[in-house]
Amino acid sequence: MAQAYDAARMAENVARIREEMAQAAREAGRASEEVRLCAVCKTRLPETVRESALLPVDLFGENHMQELLVNHAAGAYLEKPVHFIGHLQTNKVKKVVGVAHCIQSVDSARLLEAIGKEAEKQGLVQDILLELNIGEESTKTGAAADALFPLLEQAEALTSVRVRGLMAIPPAFDNSDESRRYFAMLRELLEQARGRHYARALLDTLSMGMSGSYLAAIREGATIVRVGTAIYGPRDYPQKAL
Ligand SMILES: *Cc1c(COP(=O)(O)O)cnc(C)c1O
Repeated sequence: MAQAYDAARMAENVARIREEMAQAAREAGRASEEVRLCAVCKTRLPETVRESALLPVDLFGENHMQELLVNHAAGAYLEKPVHFIGHLQTNKVKKVVGVAHCIQSVDSARLLEAIGKEAEKQGLVQDILLELNIGEESTKTGAAADALFPLLEQAEALTSVRVRGLMAIPPAFDNSDESRRYFAMLRELLEQARGRHYARALLDTLSMGMSGSYLAAIREGATIVRVGTAIYGPRDYPQKAL
């Protein structure tokens, strides 16, 4: 179904979000350039994505391989990077490696290995984030927190993969203390990982916070916030589990 979009509304949304982001960063004693805005464009039409690429968003986030390929082929991101943020099946790795600048949703040894193999075949180094199920929810994707160090060890042996940090979709979706607690847990895990001084991993990225929670996430150290509905408006058709 075609979705109407309102370019002016979208521009206003992005301007307001950037202002709020900058203020939250300042209040946390951080430089506003430290936090990138990822526009989560799942379900939007390529022309809407292209329109939003003209706005001050830093990168795009895609959940579905098919939409990634369509928008990529249409040149909808203009020159901006696109990250894959959805659940990725190993049989789709081939199509995503080399197109996504970063795969944020790596949550198993099997997936990590498949990405490593494909990246090697394509002769490139694929940036990834490890996705953690920080709230230990049975309905959510993401690896258990105690799988983090084993996954990092595994990645050290893969010359075609570079781990850039962590991603999570925590249980609370707002700016409450509850959200902040989960965001703080993710930041602490990244700090612990940094303390282990892996040779190849470049642990500079924390992807956390969505439309309702990006301010809380920035206060706790997010370097990428993933924002969909606050930019594009409500999605037209129901999403499967995030
Ligand atoms: C959809 C989605 C978002 C954005 O959610 P909004 O509430 O629309 O901002 C962020 N991250 C992931 C992984 C998503 O699937």
